[in-house]
Amino acid sequence: MGRIGALALQGDFELHIKMLRKAGIEAVEIRTPAQLDSVSGLVIPGGESTTVSRLMRRYGLDKAIRERYLSGSLAVYGTCMGMILVCSDTEGDHDLAQLGFIDATVERNAYGPQVESFESDIVIDSVNGSGPMRFRAVFIRAPKVTRVGDGVKILASHAGAPALISQGLCLAGNFHPELTDDWRLHKYFLDEFAARIGD
Ligand code: GLN
Repeated sequence: MGRIGALALQGDFELHIKMLRKAGIEAVEIRTPAQLDSVSGLVIPGGESTTVSRLMRRYGLDKAIRERYLSGSLAVYGTCMGMILVCSDTEGDHDLAQLGFIDATVERNAYGPQVESFESDIVIDSVNGSGPMRFRAVFIRAPKVTRVGDGVKILASHAGAPALISQGLCLAGNFHPELTDDWRLHKYFLDEFAARIGD
């Protein structure tokens, strides 16, 4: 099953859907637990983590995503806000529906406000066994990873902080691949994470 969902509660899920389709991947919007049944991978997009936490709890999506993930039948890719939600902890006191799929701590808005958004090239380690990949990363009120546990792979860094990390069936980055024309990371998520479901 190669279909990927994008969590469509708030944030820039539409751009992820477009990018997945550009990459030739079947993509659907996910708003209810039942809709999760038809996908093997889920992208959690950038957005506002407190708002999305509230909505996820209201619709029972945090529980449903956790159950599917822990049963090994769902891969998850969190970008920016999505990265915050897939990690285990946040610096400071925030009431977020963190899923805890990656043993890492993040600091929200660590690079300053929206006006201090920036772009930078990062180098991602051996994607699809094809050697390092240079990728234009767009950072918008990005979270910063301040701690990673032993089982976490750091696939790319920016200015000394991890920018793309993974653990198990979960991939997370603090930048926005959907704001470029480059769909290689979406394809990477499908090939290296979602395609492992059912192995
Ligand atoms: N600042 C947002 C938050 O903490 C995340 C930023 C983003 O997803 N672009 O929710």
